[in-house]
Amino acid sequence: MDNICPDCQSLMTNKHQKSHDFLSLISTLPNSQLYKCVACHAYLHCYDLKWEVLIEGYYGKFSDNASSAQPALVAV
Ligand SMILES: [Zn+2]
Repeated sequence: MDNICPDCQSLMTNKHQKSHDFLSLISTLPNSQLYKCVACHAYLHCYDLKWEVLIEGYYGKFSDNASSAQPALVAV
């Protein structure tokens, strides 16, 4: 769970919470919501107040990938 932000991690570990401030609601089904986190870009699924990560984001990943094939990010 290194690729989601602390707010999302707290949803995973402390169940039965509502969404946090960085989640934007994408779609709603009965008893089920799909959110995207704007902080870590993960997709979260909430079903009956149980949270799971559908697609992990890339929170804090940039420094890990700095030595890979990608050219260095140029500050604007
Ligand atoms: Zn997040």
